[in-house]
Amino acid sequence: MGGFLDEDAVRVAAAKSLAECAIDRLQQQGNLVEAERVLKECVSILDGRRYEKGRDGILAATLGMLGECLLDAGIEQKEGDKMKEAEGILRRALVAAELDGEDSAIANALSELSRCLREQGYVQMRKLGESEELITKLGEAAELLERCLEVREAKLGPDDDMVVGTQLEWGICLSEAMRPAEAVHTLRQYLAIQDAKLDPSDIQIARALRPLAVCLSRMGKPEEARGALGRCLAIQEAKMCEDVENLSFTLHLLGLHLLESGEPTEAQEKLRRSSARLGPGHCLVISIELELAICRRVEDHKRWDPGMPVGSSTLHMLDQHDWEYEALCDQFRTKWLKFQPPRGVSIERIFSIQIDPAVRNKHDRYKLTVSINPRRQFHGTSCNEKCNFIVNPQREAPCGLSSCSVCSICMQGFKIKDNVGTTARRTGFSLRYGEGVYFSSVSGKANDYARFSQKTAPDGRRLRCMFVAYVAKGNPYLTKEASLPRNKCPPSGLESVEGMATLVP
Ligand SMILES: [Zn+2]
Repeated sequence: MGGFLDEDAVRVAAAKSLAECAIDRLQQQGNLVEAERVLKECVSILDGRRYEKGRDGILAATLGMLGECLLDAGIEQKEGDKMKEAEGILRRALVAAELDGEDSAIANALSELSRCLREQGYVQMRKLGESEELITKLGEAAELLERCLEVREAKLGPDDDMVVGTQLEWGICLSEAMRPAEAVHTLRQYLAIQDAKLDPSDIQIARALRPLAVCLSRMGKPEEARGALGRCLAIQEAKMCEDVENLSFTLHLLGLHLLESGEPTEAQEKLRRSSARLGPGHCLVISIELELAICRRVEDHKRWDPGMPVGSSTLHMLDQHDWEYEALCDQFRTKWLKFQPPRGVSIERIFSIQIDPAVRNKHDRYKLTVSINPRRQFHGTSCNEKCNFIVNPQREAPCGLSSCSVCSICMQGFKIKDNVGTTARRTGFSLRYGEGVYFSSVSGKANDYARFSQKTAPDGRRLRCMFVAYVAKGNPYLTKEASLPRNKCPPSGLESVEGMATLVP
């Protein structure tokens, strides 16, 4: 046995000096590639140990460093495979730390693994939007942080800075995992501790306020959300030079709140300031331009002549250079997510519909009764055979028949009455979630329902019509079921049904 022991001691010594060397290179040069190579060598040396005399914590520590290194490289290169590799290594690090029974190593592994899952989630979200898989990932990340908090709190006590910091991360993670009630609880606990400990204008307090506001508005508490955002903004403005991007995000969110609560002029001021601080290259600036366009439209609606005859809607064609035109094209193309016909799909023209003021007022009143939670989504429908409005809108007026879904939506908005479900039945789809108006975030799916709006243009191209609307989703009931019984459409207390398996035809 003695021979093995010596050999193992040599292995451990070699791994140790290699690991130290890796940390040096990492810290001095920021050279992740080199650090990764050396740390991998260490792990393989340690894996080669034949005799294990007690557990010394070196394997867990080395795996932890390697995982962190892979994760940072993955984030830097926006590389999903690297992050996946980091996840595997960090899971091994956690197992090794648990075998060692070393609390701080366990807590570090839990925290890094959680960060890894969240970062993978963000990459996925940028590619595919919100999905069930993403929510599952973030849910696991939240559980890991909860365990991490328990371990750290037991060891360090509740007031320790690291413990309080972990609590904040946990709260933010819960909010990302769409668990707003738990997130609000956790973030408020964090704020209570920090309020007692810190200056009220400390930036650490602001860090919890924005996710808190997001969750409060998800729970249908816009007033409280706005209070939190107002406080967050005040703190960030006082420390403006430190974090311009965070301040801009707060301004942006506050702008959206003002827009939702019907204050478009105030909203524009916040949105403009947000956009100016982010600068022209920032990815958020494009959507801010769109939101500013919506603000201006809402202002126009407010200025509408109240004496305008009931029963009149106005359509105007959007200019191709309009921000809204480009943003809608982007959404249409990137959210197609289905097979395209052989000659592809393209956008012929986009109309903006200003609906009859009487209908508009009804919508506004409805908006006051639900938590709005707006989404811009697609709706495919059918059009009367003789109605040529979508082929040649400059010359053909809408047919105006109530049996023509396209025309009746243009004139009266979306109504749950005689027409609902007509298109679904004609296209052979059942009404999955009961009577209601169906929208999809996937343009390719709405296209399936738009089959009976199809017309042939003079040059032989096939034209279809699709609506895009701001849908007040309210508090949705999320389901994986392809259809639901009547009493669950939606269950009482909720305001809409959202199918999660959006790609099933
Ligand atoms: Zn028509």
